[in-house]
Amino acid sequence: MTTRQEDFLDDEVATVTYGNDDDSVVVIIGSGAGGGTLANELAQRGIDVVVIEAGPRFRETDFQNDEYAMYDMLTWTDPRSCTGSSPIAKHFSDSPTWVCKGVGGTTLHWAAMTPRFQAHEFKTRTTYGAIAGANNWDWPLNLSDLEPFYDRAEDKMGVTGTHGVPMPPENNNFKVIKTGGRRVGYSQIDTNSVAINTEPRDGRNGCDQIGFCQQGCRSGAKWSTMNSEIPKAEATGHCEVRPNCMALQIEQGSDGRVSGVLYADENGNRQLQKARIVCVAGNSIETPRLLLNSESSLSPDGLANSSGQVGKNYMRHMFGFVYGQFERPVNMHRGITVAGIIRDEAEFNDSRGFVGGYYFLASSLGLPYFSAFFDPGAWGAEHTRWIDSYNHTSSICVLGEDMAMESNRVSLHATRKDQFGLPIPNLHLDDHPNELAMKNHGYKQSVEIFKAAGATRVFEGPPLPASHNLGTCRMSAEASDGVVNSFGRTHDVSNLFISDGSQFTSSMAGNPTLTIVALAIRQAEHIANKMQNNEV
Ligand SMILES: Cc1cc2nc3c(=O)[nH]c(=O)nc-3n(C[C@H](O)[C@H](O)[C@H](O)COP(=O)(O)OP(=O)(O)OC[C@H]3O[C@@H](n4cnc5c(N)ncnc54)[C@H](O)[C@@H]3O)c2cc1C
Ligand code: SF4
Repeated sequence: MTTRQEDFLDDEVATVTYGNDDDSVVVIIGSGAGGGTLANELAQRGIDVVVIEAGPRFRETDFQNDEYAMYDMLTWTDPRSCTGSSPIAKHFSDSPTWVCKGVGGTTLHWAAMTPRFQAHEFKTRTTYGAIAGANNWDWPLNLSDLEPFYDRAEDKMGVTGTHGVPMPPENNNFKVIKTGGRRVGYSQIDTNSVAINTEPRDGRNGCDQIGFCQQGCRSGAKWSTMNSEIPKAEATGHCEVRPNCMALQIEQGSDGRVSGVLYADENGNRQLQKARIVCVAGNSIETPRLLLNSESSLSPDGLANSSGQVGKNYMRHMFGFVYGQFERPVNMHRGITVAGIIRDEAEFNDSRGFVGGYYFLASSLGLPYFSAFFDPGAWGAEHTRWIDSYNHTSSICVLGEDMAMESNRVSLHATRKDQFGLPIPNLHLDDHPNELAMKNHGYKQSVEIFKAAGATRVFEGPPLPASHNLGTCRMSAEASDGVVNSFGRTHDVSNLFISDGSQFTSSMAGNPTLTIVALAIRQAEHIANKMQNNEV
């Protein structure tokens, strides 16, 4: 073990390095919400960690208040394909998902909204029953198991409305939606729980309300693993981050345990990092892809895949935008991107004709994204009128639970290969009827909200690439029903863990990242105990 100085770090910060043959380290693949948090939690306990991250390292000064420039800089654009009957497969066949490649993972792009699961959302099989065409299942966890870890995650991330962090101020987009929402009878309306500093906290600045949260946040008010977990982990002297390094395969020894990770380094050279434990946190497309690409004579169908569930039960939320236009300017882009929420429809109430619930989010788009996503491919005077009236437009995002389906899955493409010669991932995606019924309800109610607020015109937007990618290595009580146990340890391999959103058994109505972070804190505690007792 030696120390080295990186030119991207402040002068006084030195990071540790570990040899490739050091088999005492925990190797974490991916530095996003799950991987970055796990790295810090382990390093704080004195455990030596190597983080292998496919993307580069950024600094806050690299971020620009420019949607397209930041999309190009931060987004994972390696080849992917998409099949199935969902409109996503038709409109975004090469880019069905929106995730990041860089130290910090998709917390670089994220809008920082942080709801907790509701109790029934952990028990969708018990609560909803068997649903035709779905593979909805119960988590081997209850809300009460996760509550202490939610609390620690909210403190770590500085979530508004918790731990003394003030709620965000109201912006115009929120005021429109609050007014319309109240008029149609909703009451659970507020400016949202977000992992954004409304005042300086934990070495990060307070929010300037400039509205480029999804472009990295130049002022550092938004929590990301880039600006929080990773530097804290490195400061312990127990964490080495290797940017621009792509994990290609996980090696399995003849005893069935994993022994190391084969990766392509920043120069494209193959390296093998030995490991005591491997934790995979590459987001819900790359994580199952890596397991499937790690097949061997011991695991001919892919690593940790004796159940055949690796890659299956992919979820990405019911998700879409509805727009309202007003006589007076709204300027929705001013202020935090997701500036408020209506929670009334999130509860379980199957009298609406669907199970699961959804939220209305006061979620704005900057003009470049608005032009691109409003109605891709549209043309003509009516379309131009909408784009011209951007400043008078308000936007609601409806976000709800979608059902796990076995056929919605990540598999290896039969012929297409990436730059390393490995099969690219294919995502198969069909919409479940429950999701379509929920979407229709959410869109209809959004139109009512806008009309009640005085909108002169409304528009129901098309689906967009998935920014929440979940499932594909789900938790289950029985090994035959999923891939990992309640601590994210694979059922098949005692020293292989899944540490990202792939673990999710159901998607819940709200955004996933607070839960990914809470699970990572819980997993770190579990791993540390097991290591201390020499049980792993
Ligand atoms: C525009 C946008 C807005 C969002 N807003 C919200 C929000 O408001 N609230 C919320 O809860 N969520 C939000 N999300 C989603 C949230 O960002 C993700 O759910 C979360 O970051 C997922 O965490 P993860 O650990 O699963 O993966 P990620 O954070 O995506 O991290 C995965 C990392 O693994 C790396 N990686 C992948 N494969 C390999 C490999 N083979 N070798 C090495 N490294 C690899 C990737 O480069 C990446 O850095 C948003 C996402 C987007 C795109
Ligand atoms: S609104 Fe706040 S969190 Fe969003 S980019 Fe600006 S400073 Fe960052």
